[in-house]
Amino acid sequence: MTLRRKLKVAIIGSGIGGLTAMRALRQRGFEVDIYERAQSLGEVGAGLQIGPNAYKVLRALGLEHSLRNAAFEPKSRIVLNWNDASLRGRGAMNGEDIARFGGRYMTAHRADLHAMLQEGLPECNIHLGQHCVSVGARGGAGYARFVGGGEIEADIVVGADGIRSIVREVLFGADKPRFTNSMCWRCILPMSKLPARVGPGGSITLTPGDHLSWYGPAGQVICYPLGDGSRLNIFAGHVSDKWVEESWSTPSSSEELVAAYAGWNEALLGMFAESGDCYKWGIFDRDPRKHWTVGRVTLLGDAAHPTMPNLAQGANMAIEDGYVLARALDRYEEDVSTALTQYVAERQPRTAQITLQSRENFRRTREWPPAPPLDRSWIFEFDATQEPERSAP
Ligand SMILES: Cc1cc2nc3c(=O)[nH]c(=O)nc-3n(C[C@H](O)[C@H](O)[C@H](O)COP(=O)(O)OP(=O)(O)OC[C@H]3O[C@@H](n4cnc5c(N)ncnc54)[C@H](O)[C@@H]3O)c2cc1C
Repeated sequence: MTLRRKLKVAIIGSGIGGLTAMRALRQRGFEVDIYERAQSLGEVGAGLQIGPNAYKVLRALGLEHSLRNAAFEPKSRIVLNWNDASLRGRGAMNGEDIARFGGRYMTAHRADLHAMLQEGLPECNIHLGQHCVSVGARGGAGYARFVGGGEIEADIVVGADGIRSIVREVLFGADKPRFTNSMCWRCILPMSKLPARVGPGGSITLTPGDHLSWYGPAGQVICYPLGDGSRLNIFAGHVSDKWVEESWSTPSSSEELVAAYAGWNEALLGMFAESGDCYKWGIFDRDPRKHWTVGRVTLLGDAAHPTMPNLAQGANMAIEDGYVLARALDRYEEDVSTALTQYVAERQPRTAQITLQSRENFRRTREWPPAPPLDRSWIFEFDATQEPERSAP
């Protein structure tokens, strides 16, 4: 691709948001460099749900074929009760989302999605082992500094450095996340460990490829297939007053997981007992922020709008952000400040609503019986690739 633009963009963090932004900006001819603190590109072993909204963005970036190869499209949704695995609800998924929302609902291994986003990007523009410690603006440009004293300058610096963003902290000060007295586990099993029948008298047949949820007092467990469907991702949320770090890589064990869900259905505990590598983390809550930009430095993804996982939309929002940032810079290339204002004006209200609805869904999981989760149609209907109504920024 010929890069024809004048503006140089530096992105801090090569997560899902950073890589999507790089692709979207390059699609419009911008020169982009990523600075990532890790020494190698990769992702943690966990699953990710990609809603029709992010699907539409990935399609616009030319990744539909790769996504459909890398991810799974669950056929139906089943919700079970925690104790006897009796049926709470079921519904079709496959095909329905494309007809209703213009995109598919897919489930993927994070590493596969990450590899897909990275494919074809020039290695020379992805700088590894660059741990950003500071950012700022100087003479109409932005800069970033790294451990070891290195410094780079660009027309725009984008903090896509995740939930505990240093860029956000430098721009706006340290935030004070609230521990929600809730924690989660994640693990991945071979699909062969999915029981064939559950429920009273074995009345419910489980089909590999279903999206399966278990609802119980003080907890919810979501299981979905990954990739070619040979693996099952488990996300288990649980009330706990034990403080757990907000990190996805604190090791746990199947014994700890089974013990936390004592009294839940044996079929579920049987799956937990088979989990090999198992990780835990604490769920923290933050209010949506209004401002994302200072001068030539802005935020994207979790750095801009850290969100509880109860809508499974954090990565989806990071993907949408990347596309909208590129479009705003494309439209207002001659006026960076207007471009960044436009980007935040488009993204802040939607991501704030996601944060608040995730919080409300979380609250509902703390009740028993739980109130049904709020409707998600407005999330899936949205198409970030379409121009919004023009309004003066
Ligand atoms: C278990 C779990 C399940 C989830 N499931 C879903 C789901 O189903 N659907 C969904 O949409 N979302 C889901 N999410 C949320 C989603 O994973 C995040 O919202 C998403 O990863 C955010 O992307 P990001 O690019 O903003 O940040 P990240 O993916 O966290 O990437 C940040 C990057 O910045 C780098 N970095 C950090 N600090 C620095 C620094 N100082 N200098 C340089 N580099 C730095 C990091 O190494 C990392 O590569 C889930 C989250 C969890 C924890």
